Amino acid sequence: MKITVSVIKADVGGIGGHTRPSDGLIDAVKKTIKASEDLLIDYYIGYCGDDVHIVMSHTHGVDNNDIHKLAWDAFMAGTQVAREEGLYGAGQDLLKDSFSGNVKGMGPGVAEMEFEERPNEAFTVFAADKTEPGAFNYPFYRMFVDALSNTGLIVNKSLARGVNMNIMDVEQGKIAELSLWEDKPSIEAALMYPGRYVVSTVTTKDGEPIVASSTDRLHNIAGTYVGKDDPICVVRTQKNFPATEEVGSVFNNPHYVAGNTRGSHNMPLMPVKLNSAATINFCIPIVQALVFSMHNGKFTGPFDGFSTPDWDYVREIATKKALAMRSQGFVHPATLVPSELEYAEGYKARMSVLEEKMKPVEGSSDNSEKKENYEDPD
Ligand code: 13P
Ligand code: MG
Ligand code: MG
Repeated sequence: MKITVSVIKADVGGIGGHTRPSDGLIDAVKKTIKASEDLLIDYYIGYCGDDVHIVMSHTHGVDNNDIHKLAWDAFMAGTQVAREEGLYGAGQDLLKDSFSGNVKGMGPGVAEMEFEERPNEAFTVFAADKTEPGAFNYPFYRMFVDALSNTGLIVNKSLARGVNMNIMDVEQGKIAELSLWEDKPSIEAALMYPGRYVVSTVTTKDGEPIVASSTDRLHNIAGTYVGKDDPICVVRTQKNFPATEEVGSVFNNPHYVAGNTRGSHNMPLMPVKLNSAATINFCIPIVQALVFSMHNGKFTGPFDGFSTPDWDYVREIATKKALAMRSQGFVHPATLVPSELEYAEGYKARMSVLEEKMKPVEGSSDNSEKKENYEDPD
């Protein structure tokens, strides 16, 4: 049976800041989905920090108008409640006034895939907050390229052949179809800069979908920066794909990602329990693991993947790394480069004062042109 799993998420408001949605907001989203549940086989609604995710199974394929409209309407209903309650950032991720066929490019994040359901279909949804789509580059690398992180890359016949990986240039809106193992160094070069190059899909060499990940950059859509584009992805697991514990464990080394307070810092990605609020200890980037089984499109779960005691230890590592980074305050690399700052206008205003006060230094030359003819040193 061909099933489509569509995961659509948006931030439409938080209690007292960018923390978590209110119960009223979540109820409004749930009611809207329930009213059109005939369209779906099954669904689950939850939140990661201030982002609400709707996980849906159905038979209408990807990019389906009705499915996308349903999610849009649900987020609109959530926005309405957010406005009534005076929640912060009401409607934050809904960047257009009316729906036009597909939520892609309208603000919400989308990760969806259609596949022939296996008798014991297993997949995990990773939802993140206070970061950006490239936050998944490093975990995906560990999952599909790094045998030191995933022994399955050696002992599993399908994974040992390598996978196809589509990488998007989110600045130019282009996509490259790359393939392991032949394109390994090019994939590595792309994954090096998560702010620009983002994994969008992964398939087996036979074309079976393994990963679909959201790639939207809100500041590209809106023209100006309206918030970090908190990402979500679906990863199918077991059999020809990585084991569930192979996809979960790649989050056990909280790596630094762009995001955090004012979307303007580098901080570690902390695995947290389902439906956790963003912490007001700054707001450390967070990720949740929703582990599902599915049969005939019906969900069992989600099991809370980061709820077991070992993840408390990982959370402690993340907290230590976060405090270590923030101990140097605003000094880069604690803060992002100017083009990635969420509050770029404020920064530009400060810099224009600085520029005005800048006067040439007697006897020194302008070096800014010299980079043009730069060659690698031997
Ligand atoms: P969100 O992108 O999760 O709304 O957070 C924005 C922010 O600036 C937090 O400090
Ligand atoms: Mg927000
Ligand atoms: Mg958010």
